[in-house]
Amino acid sequence: MRNELTFLLGGLGALTLQGCKAPKPQSDQVAHPNVIYVFPDQYRNQAMEFWGQEGFRQRVNFRNDPVHTPNLNQFARQSVVLTSAMSNCPLSSPHRGILLTGMYPNKSGVPLNCNASRPISSLREDAECVGDVFSKAGYDCAYFGKLHVDFPTPNDPQRPGQYVEDRVPAWDAYTPKERRHGFNYWYSYGTFDVHKDPHYWDTEGRRHDPKQWSPLHEADKVVSYLKNEGNVRDPQKPFFIMVGMNPPHSPYRSLDDCMEEDFNLYKDQPLDSLLVRPNADPTMKKAESARYYFASVTGVDRAFGRILSALKELGLEENTIVVFSSDHGETMCSQRTDDPKNSPYSESMNVPFLVRYPEKIQPRVDDLMLSSPDIMPTLLGLAGLGDSIPAEVQGRDYAPLFFDENADVVRPSGALYIQNMDGEKDAEGLVRTYFPSARGFKSARYTLALYIDRKEHKLVKSLLFDDANDPYQMHNLPLSEHADVVKDLCAEMGKTLKEIDDPWYRDRILSDMIPYEE
Ligand code: CA
Repeated sequence: MRNELTFLLGGLGALTLQGCKAPKPQSDQVAHPNVIYVFPDQYRNQAMEFWGQEGFRQRVNFRNDPVHTPNLNQFARQSVVLTSAMSNCPLSSPHRGILLTGMYPNKSGVPLNCNASRPISSLREDAECVGDVFSKAGYDCAYFGKLHVDFPTPNDPQRPGQYVEDRVPAWDAYTPKERRHGFNYWYSYGTFDVHKDPHYWDTEGRRHDPKQWSPLHEADKVVSYLKNEGNVRDPQKPFFIMVGMNPPHSPYRSLDDCMEEDFNLYKDQPLDSLLVRPNADPTMKKAESARYYFASVTGVDRAFGRILSALKELGLEENTIVVFSSDHGETMCSQRTDDPKNSPYSESMNVPFLVRYPEKIQPRVDDLMLSSPDIMPTLLGLAGLGDSIPAEVQGRDYAPLFFDENADVVRPSGALYIQNMDGEKDAEGLVRTYFPSARGFKSARYTLALYIDRKEHKLVKSLLFDDANDPYQMHNLPLSEHADVVKDLCAEMGKTLKEIDDPWYRDRILSDMIPYEE
């Protein structure tokens, strides 16, 4: 049916172009839907209110955070909602590198968080990224908000020869036109955490300091783009929009970080009624942050709602694919760690993934374990561009499963977990290699993570959880007592590490446990 439709619309396009001297090469572009991908930072899957509601509650084995997300609640009822989407390398830049290229951190160019001390971590200029593919397919491509995949260089458009910030090493970055990978409209920055005083560089490199809470400002900019105020896009083309909202990112400690009206919803709640996960410790110093984290979640929900309302008002709702996800989660006092991310815990790895496409997909909940590299090919597949997925992409196109849950597509058996750290530094202190400190595998039932030492690459720590019986991952199981389970997980992990040509495969790390050659 889809092919027939494409054929018919393609024919129609050709027909209307008859008589033109130079017909556009992509006369079938009218067949393609618009795509909007919204991904706030550090937004965990558990922080959506609908997980506690009828139709959703029975599909997950965790208690949702006590947050207010009215727009997402409604959106979820119109979407395919994944219970088990995983951020394989749950850290800002590595996730974003994967998202844009469809490749794991060993191929995307971004194995580590980007800053000026890490020249080895920067989005590959020669990679064909998601924006490149949409652009070639005739889309108008727009990027809003946080990018954080570029190695910062002294290229401040307002202060030639200097970094865009004075801190050492610089983290924030300006992305010049030649590094924008198909996005012809730009309103973005690298990374910056003053949520009510954000800044952006536009398509021409002009800096903007709007003094507004960043998600709401970005939503307004997206709405303006949708309305085509100032003729910023070609209305004859479908659009592909990515919106990287920074909140609910830290800091979360004052009204400088979130909207007061949202904070008021949580300010008088006892901390133990906010931190409802049994693995959370409300006596931790960070506990007070929960009010600000959840306030930021509610604010992001409102910003997302503004974009949805505009789509409806403009009559674009039916033929626009809208995805809501995030780069990774936030532990928020669970597991007694101050590190919000970068761990295999479900609070860190399990991210929202909701897809609405009124014309072509029926709302439902699905336990597809989508990995980060699958996002790019799946977006392309959803948009009817499955044939344009670059050969280098390592993820898989699961779009058929969104159209039909019984589609003839082999579902993944699990998701890799990846943690990298700085490796060798040169005389100037610049990081020249990365150390693949941990690898693991999350299956439907278990989570396994193996950590090695730098010198001999021996096993120094392991995490093994039975997520079915211990959904809050409170009992780290000894590997020796669960040899069969470990063997199966290591077999799956080895197969995937080999397939993606990971450094663990290349160096045969822990080959006494991981059967790389089978
Ligand atoms: Ca992040």
